[in-house]
Amino acid sequence: MTKDTKFVNAGRDKKFTQGTVNPVLQRASTVLFDNVAEMKDATRKRGEKHLFYGRRGTTTTFAFQQAMNEIEGGAGCYVYPCGTAAITASLLAFLKTGDHLLMVDSVYGPTRDFCDKVLASFGVEVTYYDPMIGKGIANLIQDNTKVIFTESPGSITMEVQDIPGICEVAKASNSDITVILDNTWGAGVLLQPFELGVDVSVQAATKYIGGHSDVMLGTATANEKSWPILREKSYLLGQCASADDISLALRGIRTLGVRLKQHQESAMTVANWLSNRKEVKQILHPAFESCAGHEYFERDFNGSNGLFSFVLNNSNPSALTAFLDGMHHFKMGFSWGGFESLVLSYENLHRERNYGNWQAGDVVIRLHIGLEDVNDLIEDLEQGFERLNSKL
Ligand SMILES: *Cc1c(COP(=O)(O)O)cnc(C)c1O
Repeated sequence: MTKDTKFVNAGRDKKFTQGTVNPVLQRASTVLFDNVAEMKDATRKRGEKHLFYGRRGTTTTFAFQQAMNEIEGGAGCYVYPCGTAAITASLLAFLKTGDHLLMVDSVYGPTRDFCDKVLASFGVEVTYYDPMIGKGIANLIQDNTKVIFTESPGSITMEVQDIPGICEVAKASNSDITVILDNTWGAGVLLQPFELGVDVSVQAATKYIGGHSDVMLGTATANEKSWPILREKSYLLGQCASADDISLALRGIRTLGVRLKQHQESAMTVANWLSNRKEVKQILHPAFESCAGHEYFERDFNGSNGLFSFVLNNSNPSALTAFLDGMHHFKMGFSWGGFESLVLSYENLHRERNYGNWQAGDVVIRLHIGLEDVNDLIEDLEQGFERLNSKL
């Protein structure tokens, strides 16, 4: 079944739809049992998409879990109230006091904060590694290394990692290492995590899965080996998500294919246009040779999306403010993956990153290319550069 057909059908088993097109939206805390035998049966089956208690999920949850498994190819999927909860629960599931974590340096900022402020205080040793390390990660593995966390492409700076190389080294080591991937950029679609050797694929479903900037949700999909631990620990951590939010994510999945194609096409057009501008020093888009790890993108991904960055050649605070403040279509705001275009600037990478040679004064602009007409977006950026240039 091709991907596009999968997006339409995923999770639409009749036991979840009960005869309508979409899975039912079932809100519940208490599940009622008719008799002792039924209650015992539900208790036995409580981990297997069977109604037991609201925290274990309802029919809506089960349909979404099944859909995510079908899309990503995992053995099981846990659902969380946001992407960050999916990340923190996945880390906590496979780490304990005294363990060592290898964390990619280009990771999403809140993940880094969680390592420094929570995991460190629990006695987990954290080493940040160069996103371009590849198989060289073998030199950083210790006897107590239990998790290698990857994110590809990296947040903001977009380095694409050698995921198969890292997984190969992890499996060959003597420690029982779980490789976790933050697969939000790939949306579970542009890269097949389990085929590359990943154990747990985490996503902020808040982004392209939801796709409309109206829901916070996270997922972690795991292979056979990691699923029982991930499920049990996530449940013990009290993780669950509302049926209403999940139903929005299920709706998002139906149009994921066409949305991603348009995001990709428009983003490539904008990035190509930017690459010819004198204001732009470097395009940080995985499909461009100027992006670190471009060769791994070509090898491991089957497409790109609407999110990329670029480095400005020349800037100062008032020029940057003029550029950002006058935008008509590019709105300023966190997150991405909705239908709308967004812009954010980053000026502190030299303080936030250990690798990548970022200098004070470097300005990176991250764009999310939405579903507006691409010519309107280019015109917006062109006027932005005029404002920028007038203040240099
Ligand atoms: C947004 C994002 C997250 C966090 O998701 P939330 O739903 O906002 O908690 C995690 N990882 C990446 C790469 C993200 O872009």
